[in-house]
Amino acid sequence: MSDERMVIIVAGPGSVGKSAITLQFITQTFVQDHDPTIEESYQKTLTINNKTFPLEIQDTAGQEEYSTLRSHNFRAGNGFLLIYAVDNRKGFEEIEEFRKEITRAKDCDNVPIVLCANKIDLPIKEHEVSKKEGQDLAKNYQVPFIETSAKEVININEAFQSIVKLVVENEQSK
Ligand code: GDP
Ligand code: MG
Repeated sequence: MSDERMVIIVAGPGSVGKSAITLQFITQTFVQDHDPTIEESYQKTLTINNKTFPLEIQDTAGQEEYSTLRSHNFRAGNGFLLIYAVDNRKGFEEIEEFRKEITRAKDCDNVPIVLCANKIDLPIKEHEVSKKEGQDLAKNYQVPFIETSAKEVININEAFQSIVKLVVENEQSK
């Protein structure tokens, strides 16, 4: 791992809540209207079972035209939160492309990834992607699946804990 800090990259299509999830984790507030073009990285230490993990969290901003740059950024990641929003079918369908980019950038098929279905607080009638579809995709990728809400603070810490544990397991199995 690059120096001592584990790099977690928050990736996925636009408007799915990448910044809201990152900022909820970092600042414990729901940021409604984060500038969609801003890429920022944050540092935070997470404690799991009395062990501390210094993290660098990179909030990405997807711009298709810079896909090469994106792959370059992905290369630095030790683990990835791959986010879609349950009210956005188009974004869900783009997840495969992001996963391909991640595996290509890392040149490895079993990169630590946690698939997150965000905006789970929205009323069911607004959902365009079912829980089953998310679970099936995660099963297909052989990665954990977690339903989150940056707005209602559901499973935000859990998502980061899950990816950190996965990175640790992955390092140990090498
Ligand atoms: P990004 O482009 O992936 O970084 O998405 P943002 O974090 O900027 O969020 C896009 C929009 O979705 C904003 O209007 C947010 O307020 C909203 N949003 C983000 N997370 C949630 C959530 O968990 N629930 C709901 N209802 N809205 C959310
Ligand atoms: Mg953003």
